[in-house]
Amino acid sequence: MPELPEVECVRRGLARADLSSKVISSIWRSDLALRTGAFWRDERLHLLERARTGEFERRGKFLVWRLTSAKKEALGAVIHLGMTGRVTVCAPGAERARHTHLEIALAGGPCIHYTDARRFGGVHVDTMALLDESGPLASLGPEPLSRAFNAQVLQDRGGRSKRAIREVLLDQRVVAGLGNIYVSEALHLAGVPPLAPAVELRASAWERLCVAIRDVLRQGVRNGGTTLRDYRGSRGERGRNQSALAVYGRAGQPCTTCGKNLHGYVHAGRSGVTCRSCQPVRRRA
Ligand SMILES: [Zn+2]
Repeated sequence: MPELPEVECVRRGLARADLSSKVISSIWRSDLALRTGAFWRDERLHLLERARTGEFERRGKFLVWRLTSAKKEALGAVIHLGMTGRVTVCAPGAERARHTHLEIALAGGPCIHYTDARRFGGVHVDTMALLDESGPLASLGPEPLSRAFNAQVLQDRGGRSKRAIREVLLDQRVVAGLGNIYVSEALHLAGVPPLAPAVELRASAWERLCVAIRDVLRQGVRNGGTTLRDYRGSRGERGRNQSALAVYGRAGQPCTTCGKNLHGYVHAGRSGVTCRSCQPVRRRA
């Protein structure tokens, strides 16, 4: 599932495609409903008709396309890639690939296609005022690559929880953008055992986690994202970060730090990989 680095790479690809300051000339959607959660029920695609396009931004794992409606209202199209969602820029009139669910054509310019084979993703359109107030963006925690994020902020938001630290880091309200891959990588880099209760971590562990989170995310972005199976950038390209992962996807293989075999586990229904030697459970983190 795309996490912050993958979504950031898609955003950068779309930003390079120069899609802003154009008028939307037509919108097409498939008959198949996207498999959507509570946020996505109120789909208001019609707001995009004749809207003028702005920049692509990112919040956590969401792409946010800013637009201005024909009535000059600030709009946002919030795109969640789910498992297999892809946003690609196509030539005008290009054939729709299989599993295309949404096509937005720009006057005198290209088309933007949203494809999603498994349909766990979605597109949610509304005024920015409403998106900031409710909906998928409203409850997100700080951006880990922003100045607003530091060890104290992380500990303040997650440090009172009795939940395992990995669950706390996966909670988008604590910090935005992390999923199974980068949480596993950050915990390993920081030497913190994934199932340690967050409330028991010392300030030094929060410091190491904060640095590690930033490091693994920056590396992911630099490497064009992680493609384990489905992720592709906005030009259909695969990421390269999978070969740089220290633990995720490497259960049973030797740890790159200590050489002991890595341990794969499932906790609360989500998978992770840890090194029991580099991330010892008994030593207080
Ligand atoms: Zn190790």
